[in-house]
Amino acid sequence: MADIELDLLENSVDSLNEALAKYQQGKKGNEKAYKFCVQHLSHFLELILKYYVTQSHPLLIYKNPFAKTLEDESQTIGLHEAINFLKNEGREISEKFEKDIKWLKKLRNNIEHHKFQMDVEEVEETIGRLVSAFVEFDEEHENIDLGSYIAIDQFKLFHRLASTYEGRLEKAKLKVKEAEEEAYRGIRPKEYEFLDFNIYHCYECDHDTMIPEKGSSSGYKCSFCNNEESRDIEVNCNMCGGRWPVGGMKYEDWEGDGSYEHFCPYCRRDPEHVKDD
Ligand SMILES: [Zn+2]
Ligand SMILES: [Zn+2]
Repeated sequence: MADIELDLLENSVDSLNEALAKYQQGKKGNEKAYKFCVQHLSHFLELILKYYVTQSHPLLIYKNPFAKTLEDESQTIGLHEAINFLKNEGREISEKFEKDIKWLKKLRNNIEHHKFQMDVEEVEETIGRLVSAFVEFDEEHENIDLGSYIAIDQFKLFHRLASTYEGRLEKAKLKVKEAEEEAYRGIRPKEYEFLDFNIYHCYECDHDTMIPEKGSSSGYKCSFCNNEESRDIEVNCNMCGGRWPVGGMKYEDWEGDGSYEHFCPYCRRDPEHVKDD
């Protein structure tokens, strides 16, 4: 049984090194190489996540660990099951990380079925994001110290990929800080409560990077991924004028005259917020 674990780890690391080598070729102008990079990287993620599952118990690699006999041919878990297990175990996998993993897997399937269309820039960006999200996840939870398994030729690239994303995130956070300082400039502390400045969570990229933006339809924009929507953004209730996160508002054509407006839970007598005596 220990063999399975070792195989998983070894094969996953091989795939990662292959993926990085192909990425390098892609960067050098051989765009076709990205195709193989996607396949290897997707393979790597699937295997390493399964490996993590086996760290809780080696038999969990099987779909039915309670079967009367387990053989080499017994069915093993898939990517979805591995992700679900890790989440159920309380390990944080951000929405974005999960979305990226699934995006990559879909792209791999398309490649394998020759329905292959690829935006090189998008592929590069997602691969960078996946590698860095993965390194972060590994550091937080497992400490297999992935870096120590990377082939020497690929070492520099690996670290560059892991840090491009970090670098962009740093910049985005700096933008948030600057916007905050700008908003508070020249305002006395006792006037802070009248200041309409908020930093909201971006559910697209999972960072607290949404700041006011004039050109945005919601009034906010993520300084990292440019998303403009968040269910946390506060808006005024059309009836009582109270402020509520837009996610709790109902956007309705109350009068039936085609004009949609926000209504807060109190005004629409939402049983969760209003007790009827
Ligand atoms: Zn964002
Ligand atoms: Zn209201």
